[in-house]
Amino acid sequence: MDIDVLKLYSRNNKFLSPPTYLNPSILRVTKNVFLPDAIQDKYALLCEDPTTLSKQSNFRYILVVSSNGKETNYPSNTILLDEELSYLDEGDVIKVNPTNNGINSIYRRNANANSFLVTERCNSYCLMCSQPPKNVDDGFLVNEILQAIPLIPRDTKEIGLTGGEPTLVGERFFDMVRSCKQHLPDTSVHVLSNGRTFKDLDFAYKLSQIGHPDLMIGIPLYSDIPQIHEFVVQAKGSFDETISGILNLKRCGVKVEIRCVIHKQTYERLPQLAEFISRNLLFVDHVALMGLEIMGFTRANLDELWIDPVEYQEQLSEAVKILNRNAVFTSVYNHQLCLLPEELHRFSVKSISDWKSEYIDECQKCSKLDECGGFFSSSAKHKYSDHISAFG
Ligand code: SF4
Repeated sequence: MDIDVLKLYSRNNKFLSPPTYLNPSILRVTKNVFLPDAIQDKYALLCEDPTTLSKQSNFRYILVVSSNGKETNYPSNTILLDEELSYLDEGDVIKVNPTNNGINSIYRRNANANSFLVTERCNSYCLMCSQPPKNVDDGFLVNEILQAIPLIPRDTKEIGLTGGEPTLVGERFFDMVRSCKQHLPDTSVHVLSNGRTFKDLDFAYKLSQIGHPDLMIGIPLYSDIPQIHEFVVQAKGSFDETISGILNLKRCGVKVEIRCVIHKQTYERLPQLAEFISRNLLFVDHVALMGLEIMGFTRANLDELWIDPVEYQEQLSEAVKILNRNAVFTSVYNHQLCLLPEELHRFSVKSISDWKSEYIDECQKCSKLDECGGFFSSSAKHKYSDHISAFG
């Protein structure tokens, strides 16, 4: 079963009339034509036939998936959607940019994961970064996130804040966490950070003082040996900064997850890393041992990074055993089940976001397809293990 990779952005939308608003709008999608007039302006109405709308509505835009040929009778704020965005549904949040006919799906209610890119800037330069850093002024991203958060349905389980390095936006990082607490009090917030900013105890303390009820900072640690970690992240001094950051966060009562992407530079010392965590960072809340995504810098550094996952199963099993023995909550992310020894299956999580996951032909006959997270679509196209083999 091939699963098409969802397209989250398209410029192939057609505005029926020159738009009144030229600035991008962040809007919640609805099918409810009876929303009170006063709030309709925050919504894009998904509608099969706008000619049936009884009066000129206040919706910012009317979205139509397939035209029925009566376009001349549609309201002037109608947009004919690119077919590839036809999955948009009640409760989704979109960004509409009239100057280039663009629509971004920035939150999908049915997605297994929703993350917001806070900034493309980063102070590390990881060998396998999937979102290579850019030194750009992209403060508008935080503005958009702050507009989007109040529009997200309150029953959302989790949202992510990612980068680049999200803490580089300084105080505005706290604004986003505060906004999540205010508008989405029952939603977990997971932040992907290199942890280095939290070497400043004051920064960690300020975050803790927001008192978000369910916040986790996911921080990569690639080795117990500083030089190996710093080679992977290409930043001198980063090991001590990251460890200080983890200690400061935990001292302030903020939950921390340690993440390690497994590749040629990191696999050999996985058991030693597990020992290091068990001895020095036993109080972290979660450890995720992760498969490699063939995106961004990974493609350029493939020879330095790629190792068939079957070749590191011994080290992975040993690391999981050590962490588990020490009662550290541990998961294995981004690995195909058929590559993992049976004993690791219970640690494996379907962690690849649905919009970028795929299965290959061999998976069509696999009895564990539903339990298996499959492949990053980038891996399915470029590089994956030679040992994929369906369960009978
Ligand atoms: S064949 Fe392997 S990768 Fe494919 S679904 Fe089965 S376990 Fe997953």
